[in-house]
Amino acid sequence: MTGDDETGKPPSRNRVPKRLLLGPGPSEVDPEVTRALSMPALGHLDPVLLDIMQELADMLRGVFNTRNKLTIALSGTGTSGMEAALANVIEPGDPVLVGVMGYFGDRMCQIVERQGGKLTRIDTEWGTALDPQKMREAILRVQPRVVCLVHAETSTGVVQEIEEISRAAHEAGALLVVDAVTSLGGQPLKVDEWGIDVCYSGSQKCLGAPSGLSPFTMSDRALDKVRNRKTPVSSFYLDAGLLEKYWDERQYHHTISAPLIYSLHTSLSLLHEEGLEKRWERHNLNHRAFRAGIEAMGLSFLPPEEVSLWPLNAVVLPAGWDELAIRSALLNSHGIEIGGGLGPFKGKLLRVGLMGYGSQQAFVLQLLASLESVLNAQGGGISQGAALPAAMRVYEG
Ligand code: PLP
Repeated sequence: MTGDDETGKPPSRNRVPKRLLLGPGPSEVDPEVTRALSMPALGHLDPVLLDIMQELADMLRGVFNTRNKLTIALSGTGTSGMEAALANVIEPGDPVLVGVMGYFGDRMCQIVERQGGKLTRIDTEWGTALDPQKMREAILRVQPRVVCLVHAETSTGVVQEIEEISRAAHEAGALLVVDAVTSLGGQPLKVDEWGIDVCYSGSQKCLGAPSGLSPFTMSDRALDKVRNRKTPVSSFYLDAGLLEKYWDERQYHHTISAPLIYSLHTSLSLLHEEGLEKRWERHNLNHRAFRAGIEAMGLSFLPPEEVSLWPLNAVVLPAGWDELAIRSALLNSHGIEIGGGLGPFKGKLLRVGLMGYGSQQAFVLQLLASLESVLNAQGGGISQGAALPAAMRVYEG
C-alpha cells in the first residue's frame, strides 16, 4: 500500500488528536470503556454475546427506572431511537401532539410527518420549558393517539417537567414518547413512575460510551398497540416486534456490533458501581460549580436554574462576541471541544456538556481557566480571576 506522505503510512493513521470533549455530545469516554472496545469480536448470535446483551438490558432497566420487558439497545445513534419510537407507535393518519422547546422537538415533528402522523405542535420560546397546563389544554383539544416530549433539550439546556403532562396524556388515552438522549444517567428520569410509554437515549452522552447505540424501552401498553397495528411498521430495521425476537428469542435480525455492546456494557457497569443517584448528584455538583464560575466571569446561563439541565450548560454570549472564533481557539489552542448555538441562538450561545466521565471537577476547572484566557484574548471585558475561586467554593460546600 502506498502512503499519502513521506512517512509511507496509509492515510488517516496517527492523525487523531486527543481532545477534551465538553460539547453537547459525544462526551469523554472512560479509558476502561475504550479498552472494552478492543476485546475480541463475537458473532451476533454467539451465546456469550447474547448473555452480555441480557446483562446490558438489565442494567438499562435500572438506569431507565423501568420494569419494561422490551428494554434494549438499538444499533444506531440517538436519532434511531427517535425514529424507532415514532415509527412503531404512529400509524398513518394518527393525531400526534409534539411539545417543542428547541431543535430536537422540531426533529420529532419532522419524523412524525414522515410517518404519516397528523401533527399538532405546541411551541414554547427556546430557553423555556413547556407549560403543563397549556399542554393539558392542547391534549384535550387534539385528542392525540401519541404525545411526544423532549426531556432534556440539548439545544437550549432546558429540562422539561414530564409527570403532569403524562397524566393528561393518559387521561386522554394517548401514549407518551419521551426523548431522554441527554438526560439518561445524568439527571433524574423515572420511566415507570412518570408513566412514559416509550423512551430512548444515546450511548454517547451521560452513559459515557462512544456513539452508535441507542438505549430504548417500551411499555407493554405501547407494545400492544404495535402488535395490533393495521399496517406494518414502516421500518424493518427498527421494528420493535422483530427486535424483541432478536434480543429475547435469539432470532437473527441484524448484525449487532459486539465491540459497541462491550463498550456500553462496561459503561453501564461503571454507572452501577457508582450508583445512579450518586451519578445524578455528581452531574448536579459539576453543573453548579460551572455555573458559579461562569456567573463570576459576568456571563449568564440561558435558562433559569429551576429548569436548567445538569449535563448540558447553555451560556449566553453577550452581543459582539464571535462564537465561532471562541470555539476555534478553545479547540486549537486548548484542545477542548464545546458546542455553539442552534436555530435562533446560532452564534449566541456556548453549549457545554458535563456528561458521564466528562462531568468531573478537574475538567470544569480546566474549561473555566481556558475559557477565561480565550475570552480575554478575544477582547476582554470579563471579570478576571474570579471563575475558579467561585467554582471551588461550590466544591468546598
Ligand atoms: N435528541 C436529543 C435531545 C439530542 O440531543 C440528540 C443529539 O444530540 C438527538 C436526539 C440525536 O442523537 P444522535 O445525534 O445521537 O443521533
